[in-house]
Amino acid sequence: MKNDNAEQFLRDVSSLGIVLNDLQLDQFAKYYELLIQWNEKVNLTAITEYNDVMKKHFVDSLSLVKVCNLKEDLSLLDVGTGAGFPGLVLKIAFPDLQVVLMDALNKRVHFLREVIGKLDLRGVEAVHGRAEDFARQEGFREKFDICVSRAVANLSTLSEYCIPFVKLGGCFVSYKSEKTLEEMEEGEYAISLLGGVVEHQTEFYLPDSDIYRNLVTIRKQKNTPEKYPRKAGLPLKKPLSK
Ligand code: SAM
Repeated sequence: MKNDNAEQFLRDVSSLGIVLNDLQLDQFAKYYELLIQWNEKVNLTAITEYNDVMKKHFVDSLSLVKVCNLKEDLSLLDVGTGAGFPGLVLKIAFPDLQVVLMDALNKRVHFLREVIGKLDLRGVEAVHGRAEDFARQEGFREKFDICVSRAVANLSTLSEYCIPFVKLGGCFVSYKSEKTLEEMEEGEYAISLLGGVVEHQTEFYLPDSDIYRNLVTIRKQKNTPEKYPRKAGLPLKKPLSK
């Protein structure tokens, strides 16, 4: 991956305070190749140009370091991970994380398992199913230090998907790419019903770009009441609102 383009990627990650070794750079290069190959037959991403994937998928995913210290042995769940953004990217850069990648589309889960195998990653698994169903399982409910999600749903729906998975004291971070004023109002109501509180919003531009991002950090303060999440489909169809 040591070519001119990779130089920009290296600059971007180092401006986030991340140092990658040769193995990790090689893993990112293989991940990119597999993404492009599989994208021919499975719909994984509309973004395929090398520099765009590096910036808009990889660097964007890694921007979580702005709000979380990932250098510890933490458990992290990515809900609606798609082609592995942000969860698989975070696993490559922070190998000590214990990561679960969750998606409702089985073809994408197959892709993720292939990448995990080819990159020889340990301490990461891809699971197929809906968040609303997994959240009722004992091995998943309130078991994660961090839950993340990018480009899956509005904040209210997403909170019902994600907050049930978070341990008391842990956090849910929602990756947003636009200002979220209206979404926040409705979202805050749902968040408090689910046992969380909005800790902060971190607004920034991706390194060397005008690409706006907003990470909304929600801290879990109370256990999520048993009745949440509601049955599969309802959080999207009827988001919790006053
Ligand atoms: N997070 C990735 C990204 O940023 O590129 C994928 C985003 S894609 C637009 C949304 C993904 O969420 C899809 O792969 C979809 O299958 C998954 N998804 C939507 N609702 C879900 C649910 N209730 N449980 C699990 N996955 C879900």
